[in-house]
Amino acid sequence: MRRLSIISAAMALFLGHAAAQTDYPARTITMIVPFAAGGPTDTVARLVAESMSQTLGQPVIVENAAGAGGTIAAGRVARAKPDGYTLFVHHIGHATSAALYRKLPYDPGKDFAGIGLITDVPMTLVGRANLPPNDAKEVIEYIKTNKDKVTLANAGLGAVSHLCGMLLQEALATQVTTVPYKGTGPAMNDIMGSQVDLLCDQTTNTTGPIGSGKVEGYAVTTRERLKTLPNIPTLDEAGVKGFEVTAWHGLFAPKGTPQPVLDKLAGALQTALKSPRVVERFASLGTEPVAPERATPAALDQHLQAEIAKWKPIIEKAGVYAD
Ligand code: ASP
Repeated sequence: MRRLSIISAAMALFLGHAAAQTDYPARTITMIVPFAAGGPTDTVARLVAESMSQTLGQPVIVENAAGAGGTIAAGRVARAKPDGYTLFVHHIGHATSAALYRKLPYDPGKDFAGIGLITDVPMTLVGRANLPPNDAKEVIEYIKTNKDKVTLANAGLGAVSHLCGMLLQEALATQVTTVPYKGTGPAMNDIMGSQVDLLCDQTTNTTGPIGSGKVEGYAVTTRERLKTLPNIPTLDEAGVKGFEVTAWHGLFAPKGTPQPVLDKLAGALQTALKSPRVVERFASLGTEPVAPERATPAALDQHLQAEIAKWKPIIEKAGVYAD
């Protein structure tokens, strides 16, 4: 009798699970962005969400849950029900947080299920338009000689702008005053309003303001110059030898989300990454969607593990911690 009821309970669970997967999605999906609205992660998420919602036939709404370099939102997603209705767009900061934070209430490498990579975005060192230096070499000298007054913005401890700034300060053997924001949106507003001097951030948010002269574009963080900003030298060219940081973005779900749900979401993500609107908008922001084989759960899971392993020794060597 007891055995029978265990079997029927298991059957009910199995059928419920299967029904949930075939019906999925039956309601609104929330895509959590761990930074303020108007920043690169927000832009990438909104473009992808719009297309995914068309494919999935349900609204995909973006919710900004900013703070502590993305770790507050990550903690929330790790604790969310793994039913495919809470998704998470993050970037390289998800991997670096594992070393930057000595204590996190979740494990970035274990508590999330990848859906797929979205894009690899170059970064740029930008400054307020009225900052004295005129080019990359001058700005490096300026940082070194004015270290007591230079201010360097970031999108919070653990943000990729924080990582870029930290690596730059390390490479120049110079510490400046850093100013944390809740995202690149508000940080860029303060660069444009001349309240802060410098920021290293994704081209997603800097390409437009560099083009219109609202900010000074000093250098790019890739090894090669960018097609969209051909006149801006690399930091390596400007004398910071070997400097290289790019920011990947990926779409995650809480660990335990059923594989068929992850696969359905990955399919919708791949469709989004092929949509002409997403391709065009990404191109105008100096980036492009990843190849379809990287927009898969397995590719993102592998990438996340590789990135955690890659950045741990670099961050430990720099000896910086966010807490
Ligand atoms: N670009 C930001 C960072 O530095 C975050 C954001 O997307 O607003 O991590």
